[in-house]
Amino acid sequence: MIQEKIREIAKELLSKKAVDLIIGFSEWTLPLRTTPLFVRTSKEADRLIWNSFCENNLATYLHKFSHFKVGIVVKGCDARSITALSLEKRFKPDQLFLIGVPCQRMVDRKRVKKAVAGEILRAHEQGDYLLVEGEDFKKILKREDFLYPSCQGCIHRTPLKADVLVGDPVEESPLIETHPEIEEFEKKSPEERWNFFEKESSRCIRCYACREACPMCYCSECFVDSSNPKWIEKGLSPSDLEFYHIVRAYHQTGRCSGCGACERACPMDIRLTYLTQKLNLDVKELFHFETGIDAETPPPLSTYETEDRQEFIK
Ligand code: SF4
Ligand code: SF4
Ligand code: SF4
Repeated sequence: MIQEKIREIAKELLSKKAVDLIIGFSEWTLPLRTTPLFVRTSKEADRLIWNSFCENNLATYLHKFSHFKVGIVVKGCDARSITALSLEKRFKPDQLFLIGVPCQRMVDRKRVKKAVAGEILRAHEQGDYLLVEGEDFKKILKREDFLYPSCQGCIHRTPLKADVLVGDPVEESPLIETHPEIEEFEKKSPEERWNFFEKESSRCIRCYACREACPMCYCSECFVDSSNPKWIEKGLSPSDLEFYHIVRAYHQTGRCSGCGACERACPMDIRLTYLTQKLNLDVKELFHFETGIDAETPPPLSTYETEDRQEFIK
């Protein structure tokens, strides 16, 4: 069983002092949820779990442990973020031990909650099914009907980089060919696209949960917090909100693994990945580059060649 194997590996790494800590997942007090767990002793390793709610991109937490040797449980998207971060020299080559888990795609608890009438008090997974129970209902749901959109379109579910792989590699094929929202977005005229973007960003309360959830947002001072120079006002005016969303999306270009953590973190349910995934597709088409696939090639917007087209510079 994957969970048992993760615990076994964690115990071995900690007892041999090969790492200072392991980052993985543990149970949470609410059903359909997990929480990141930071394990420092073999005894604590028995709290590590694995299920369809281990959706957080754990690479986000690595920035807090830059002086430690860290073992980390990674899905395909976490591993790709780590490769992208390694290209940005965020870690020393021997600092990390990746415990790779081929990902079964993660379940969207908001969709599950919508499918039942009442509060879910208990939830269990059994193979391809979820059993959810409340005060006066019991329901069996098919896992596949409740997956996150980012997971439905995910191709690289088996970590491309791992020191050990727990479980058999999974097929490299998406459940859906294109993110339906991107297809819909691409069909719109420039004016309609802007209206859609304006409407989505207008609901933003600037809590920055999307930034905190993203492994690629690690600047010690984000441009939104800088007062010298001051790039953006602190309020909720449309221009400030739009500026934040545009710059955030562009900062992710060629760096985003498509994990969907930003969108899941948003308390306002603002759709964020239609922009980052659209940019991912454009980068793939224009530069034949996908984030976190190749550990040697920097993202296209972080490098240049002397023969690059430059007629736009006047
Ligand atoms: S994006 Fe891919 S690897 Fe990441 S959780 Fe979803 S299916 Fe798994
Ligand atoms: S921008 Fe969103 S989808 Fe992309 S890496 Fe960051 S959290 Fe994941
Ligand atoms: S998480 Fe949502 S509300 Fe908060 S800053 Fe990001 S987009 Fe805005």
